[in-house]
Amino acid sequence: MLEREAAVGRHQTGHNSGVVHAGIYYAPGSLKARLAVEGARELVAYAEERGLPLRRCGKLIVAARPADLPRLDELERRAHANGVPGVRRLAAAEIREIEPHARGLAALHSPATAVVDFGAVAAALADDVRAAGGEIRTGTAVHALRREGGRVRVALEGGALTAGAAVACAGLWADRLAVAGGGRREPAIVPFRGAYRALRPERAHLVKALIYPVPDPDLPFLGVHLTRDVHDEVHVGPTALLAPARDAYRLARLVPRDLADTARWPGTWRVARRWWRTGLREAGWALRPGTLAREAARFVPDLRPADLVAGPAGVRAQAVARDGRLLDDFALDADGPVVHVRNAPSPAATASLALARVIADRLPAAA
Ligand SMILES: Cc1cc2nc3c(=O)[nH]c(=O)nc-3n(C[C@H](O)[C@H](O)[C@H](O)COP(=O)(O)OP(=O)(O)OC[C@H]3O[C@@H](n4cnc5c(N)ncnc54)[C@H](O)[C@@H]3O)c2cc1C
Repeated sequence: MLEREAAVGRHQTGHNSGVVHAGIYYAPGSLKARLAVEGARELVAYAEERGLPLRRCGKLIVAARPADLPRLDELERRAHANGVPGVRRLAAAEIREIEPHARGLAALHSPATAVVDFGAVAAALADDVRAAGGEIRTGTAVHALRREGGRVRVALEGGALTAGAAVACAGLWADRLAVAGGGRREPAIVPFRGAYRALRPERAHLVKALIYPVPDPDLPFLGVHLTRDVHDEVHVGPTALLAPARDAYRLARLVPRDLADTARWPGTWRVARRWWRTGLREAGWALRPGTLAREAARFVPDLRPADLVAGPAGVRAQAVARDGRLLDDFALDADGPVVHVRNAPSPAATASLALARVIADRLPAAA
């Protein structure tokens, strides 16, 4: 396993909400729907077996305004169609039995949703690879994967190696690695920065577990949510702001090549034209934390801007088609002994063990 950074899990896997999604949101029949349900079960079993931090805390999806109610109906329908265990509709008065400080018109409760530390999961998986005789070579950037006869030539900084098969899983750089090996430009990765604020410890009692809004069905993001992680920190976020760098963990980070790639991709401008109002709102949440607090206070009314302090940030690898479509489902490009993972957004951390099997099945049997 070749990893450019000094350790595994330094990008999306180590900068996410830490939620093992139960599989509620995803369109029935999609890869996401199937692999989230299977993967969540397997991931929880894996974390338990390896003694990794895990809490089966359950989650609420709260309808805060009348327009959310038909969308909540649709989520309930999807949850049942996808076989998510234990999902139950709650009336307004039942919400506070689960989350005493949450308010809404109705909610879905998913008892199977859990939290883990995905950084710890990645480190444990890396240990498994080593224990099975594999090698994790960190600090090793891959420049391209090219087919050579029936094998793969892996071009590295100052050298190359050959392999019977290769899987490119480069997250925020997935499109670049695919194009470097002669693959298609589409879909392009457009980075969306997701910033969280943290709840002051003395106000953390406002959130027992996980409280989510009803998301906009046209967007692949879940909306600003409140999550208590395995270390008992409560986060509010993430925002979703187009970023001028693929590793924009700091707000001011700008990488000219990343910005140029995003600006040159026709899909970016179509996204901007369609979603400019959403973009302005997200920018407000990112730049003025008081507005983020007000957004979360729609379903936790006791939350005040002064309760929030600075929190971590992650960057989502959002695959965008040339026509501006935000790709929703997982996407793989298989070319003989090379598989490129072109879109592995949330819940790919949840689904990782199940998704890995699908990827392995795309490789030639002899590999
Ligand atoms: C803010 C945020 C919140 C999220 N919340 C959740 C959640 O609660 N639950 C959930 O299931 N999912 C969540 N996700 C999604 C989840 O984190 C990702 O789907 C998942 O981590 C993707 O894993 P990956 O291995 O594809 O990418 P990454 O974790 O980004 O890994 C890609 C790796 O490839 C390496 N790399 C890139 N290019 C090269 C190269 N040329 N040579 C060598 N190495 C290279 C990188 O260094 C990196 O280590 C969230 C994501 C974000 C950003």
